[in-house]
Amino acid sequence: MTSKTKPFDMDAYVTRITTGPCFICQIVAGNPAYPHHIIYQDEQAIVFLNAYPPLIGYTLVAPRQHREQVTGDFTQAEYLQLQAVIYRVAEAVRRVVPAERVYILSLGSQQGNSHVHWHIAPLPPGVPFHRQQLAALQVEDGILDLSEADMSALAAQIRAAL
Ligand SMILES: [Zn+2]
Repeated sequence: MTSKTKPFDMDAYVTRITTGPCFICQIVAGNPAYPHHIIYQDEQAIVFLNAYPPLIGYTLVAPRQHREQVTGDFTQAEYLQLQAVIYRVAEAVRRVVPAERVYILSLGSQQGNSHVHWHIAPLPPGVPFHRQQLAALQVEDGILDLSEADMSALAAQIRAAL
């Protein structure tokens, strides 16, 4: 497990997500002001590394189109198509990083991060129980200190494992 951490500026993050444009739409549009390590994309989905990872291999999956309700803005067929991508990405992540368990969840709200997306968060082995689950996803105490080269290599490994 990479234990090096760097500080996470929660106030700046909250300001950005509540007042800025939709970051996922900006990534889809290729806006250079929103650089991300994209792992995969197809006509429906885009997959990229979490830019502020509390865990190594933490990946996000989103529809390319701006949809907000996790179930209600999709037909069942569209939803299941996205879940198929999530399944493949979770298995690819498991092949690349050691994971005792892969957490999959959708968060966000209408106030921030409204573009629906799924978190694929691999829990490394050996994390004490009280530091698992939601505690493992906390960023207030810092995020992993990964260089752009580290992130790029990680994205390439997950892409190759897909
Ligand atoms: Zn959007």
